Amino acid sequence: MEALATNPCAACTIDQDCCNHLCGLRLTQIEFDRCFRHHDDDIVVERDGPLYIVSQRDGNACPNWQDGGCKVYDQRPRECALFPHTLYVRLHHNVVSVRVHSDTKCPLKAQLISSQSEAAALANEFAREAFGDQARIRVGSETKWQRLGRVSRTLVSRVLGTLLR
Ligand code: SF4
Ligand code: SF4
Repeated sequence: MEALATNPCAACTIDQDCCNHLCGLRLTQIEFDRCFRHHDDDIVVERDGPLYIVSQRDGNACPNWQDGGCKVYDQRPRECALFPHTLYVRLHHNVVSVRVHSDTKCPLKAQLISSQSEAAALANEFAREAFGDQARIRVGSETKWQRLGRVSRTLVSRVLGTLLR
């Protein structure tokens, strides 16, 4: 695995902020085994159904970030490939709902971001690999109201997290 030369984030003007703040990256088991399984000691891993949710440990960057680039760039997880799109995944009444959104301040957003149809294809591939061939999957762009709901839920959980510390 070697692709530092092709990594556009090397030109980031905000210090490669993303890979240095790994928080809640969602992975299928195949992606986890390929990119993170052997870094178990360097990350915090949570499970949400079939998904692996990976965050940095002790303020360290993503363990795949080395020498100014991603050492698994060509085989990076789909949520990394989708960025500056992000996924919101929810299982409700046996339907996997995957919403694609993009709130980022990434300075290279215009150049990095995939088209809505490419993003939807990657999101669908991700959900199919994670939840299996029998799963009912709906992929769509986040609406304004869905965004408001997601941002509110995040804020409430942050406030509760602070109060309960
Ligand atoms: S995705 Fe954007 S913000 Fe993140 S490291 Fe790359 S250029 Fe920087
Ligand atoms: S796997 Fe690569 S692109 Fe994804 S967070 Fe880690 S260093 Fe960044």
